[in-house]
Amino acid sequence: MPIDKAKSRFKGYLSTDEETLGSLSTDFGRLVRKVPSMVAVPAVALDVQTMVQLANEEGWTVSTRGASHSQSGQSLSEGGILLDMQGLNKIGPIEEDSVWVDAGVAWGDLVERTTERGLIPPVLTNNLNVTVGGTVSMAGLGVASHRYGTQADNVLALEVVTGVGDLVQCSPEENRELFDCTRCGLGQFSVITRVKLKLRSVLPSVRTYYLLYDDLGSLMEDQTRILHNQKFDFVEGWCAPCVQGLKTFGEARVPFAEWFYPVHLTVEHGGTAPSESILAGLNFYRHVHTEDVALSAYVQRLEPVFQMWRESGGWNLAHPWMEVILPWERAAEYIQGVLRSFPPNLLIGGHVLLWPCTGAAANAPLFMHPEGDFVMGFGILPAVPRHLVEMSVSLLNRASDLCIQLGGKRYLSGWVEFDHDKWKAHFGDQWHQFVQWKEFFDPNGLLNPGFLKYTE
Ligand SMILES: Cc1cc2nc3c(=O)[nH]c(=O)nc-3n(C[C@H](O)[C@H](O)[C@H](O)COP(=O)(O)OP(=O)(O)OC[C@H]3O[C@@H](n4cnc5c(N)ncnc54)[C@H](O)[C@@H]3O)c2cc1C
Repeated sequence: MPIDKAKSRFKGYLSTDEETLGSLSTDFGRLVRKVPSMVAVPAVALDVQTMVQLANEEGWTVSTRGASHSQSGQSLSEGGILLDMQGLNKIGPIEEDSVWVDAGVAWGDLVERTTERGLIPPVLTNNLNVTVGGTVSMAGLGVASHRYGTQADNVLALEVVTGVGDLVQCSPEENRELFDCTRCGLGQFSVITRVKLKLRSVLPSVRTYYLLYDDLGSLMEDQTRILHNQKFDFVEGWCAPCVQGLKTFGEARVPFAEWFYPVHLTVEHGGTAPSESILAGLNFYRHVHTEDVALSAYVQRLEPVFQMWRESGGWNLAHPWMEVILPWERAAEYIQGVLRSFPPNLLIGGHVLLWPCTGAAANAPLFMHPEGDFVMGFGILPAVPRHLVEMSVSLLNRASDLCIQLGGKRYLSGWVEFDHDKWKAHFGDQWHQFVQWKEFFDPNGLLNPGFLKYTE
C-alpha cells in the first residue's frame, strides 16, 4: 500500500511498520488474527474523511477499531487500512443535558468528567475502557438499560464520514436514515467521528442489595415486578455454579453444578439510603449483603474484577463470548437447558450474565431483539485455554443456534459465526433496508468487510 500517497494528505499518525501492524492484529476474543497493511490514527475528523476518500480512489478497504473489545475480528482489517479511532479523544464542552464527544473517547474518561458536574450518561456498559464509537456501533447495554434502552438510544446526533467520503452530521431531524443505520450498524455505513450524547443528573451515592436466588422461576417472577415498578435504578444478575462433583455422562465422568442466581439491585440516593423495606414482596433465597458506595465507585465496580482477570492471565486467553437476548417466555427453559449441558469448569476466569430488561426501552432500528414487554439478556463469557477452544466454540455455537430457533437474537460483539443466511435471519424484516443502506452509503463495500456477510 503506497503510504506516501496517504502521508501527503493525512495529518495524524500513519504506520506500515510490521511491529505496529502486528500489535493491532487481534482483539479481546483472541480467536481471529488479521493483519492490516496500514494503521492510521486520525488526529481530526478530516483525517478520517481523507482516508475514506483515498480508499475509494485506490480501491482500499477501511476498518474501524475502537478499543477492540469485540471478539470475532469486527475491529480488525485483513490487508486494508485500519483506522485506530482512539486518536480522536476530545470531550466537551459538557452542557446541562448533553455533551459532544469524539468517537474514540473511552466511556470511563467521559464519566469521570461528567460525574464531577453531577451528570451521567443514562446507560453505561460494565467495562468503561471501551470507546463511545465502539459501543454506539454495537448498541451498548448496561445495568440501567431496563430504564433507558441502549447507549445507541441515548445518542442525540452524530458526525460521521460515510463510505463515499462525505463528512456530515445526522440526527432524528437531519439525515435520519444515516442516523438510523449508523447506530448499531457495526461500522458498515459510516465511520463515527463525533457523538452528541444525552446526559442526566445523578445522585452522588448508591445502595446495592445483594440477593441470591436458588430458583430461576422466582427470580423472573420478581423481575417482572422490579422492571414494572422501576424502584431500582440499576439491575444486574449472574448465574453462578455450585460444583457438585462428577457424574457419569455417556462413557465419561464430567463435572456438574447446581446453579444459583445472584441479583444486585441498586438505588441512587443523596444521603439517605432506602431501607430494606424496598425488598418487601420479593421471593429471594437469601439477602447476602448490603453495599453503600459513591456513585463514582459504583460505575467502576467491575474494574477490580477485570484487573483480577488480567493478573490471573485470563485476559490473554481466548474469549468466545456468547450473549443472547431471549424472549421472556422461553428464557427459563433455554437458560436452564444450556447451563445443564455446560461444563462449569469452562467458566474459570469468566462468568455467566443474566440481564433482565424491558423490551420497549430499546428503539434503534438495527438493534435486533425479541418483541415483548420484557426480554432476558444471557451471556456465557468464558476465558478459554487454547486446547479447549474447539470444544467450547462448538458448544457455544450450538447454544447460539438454539437461541435463534427459540426466537432470540445474538448481541453482536461476541463470538458470532454467521453465514449469509444467518445474517439475513438476524436482521429479519430490517434486512432489505440494511442492504439498501449499504448500497447507498458504502456502494464500494469498503467499510469493515469480512465479518458481516451482506452479499451471498
Ligand atoms: C470485559 C468486557 C466487558 C464488556 N461489557 C459490556 C457491557 O456491559 N455492555 C455491552 O454492551 N458490551 C460490553 N462488552 C462488549 C463491548 O462493549 C463491545 O464489544 C463494544 O463494541 C466495545 O467497544 P470497543 O471500543 O472496544 O469497540 P471495538 O471492539 O473496537 O469495535 C466494535 C465495532 O464497532 C466498530 N467501530 C468502532 N469504532 C467505530 C467508529 N468510530 N465508527 C464506526 N464504527 C466503529 C468496529 O468496526 C466494530 O465493528 C464488553 C466487552 C468486554 C471485553
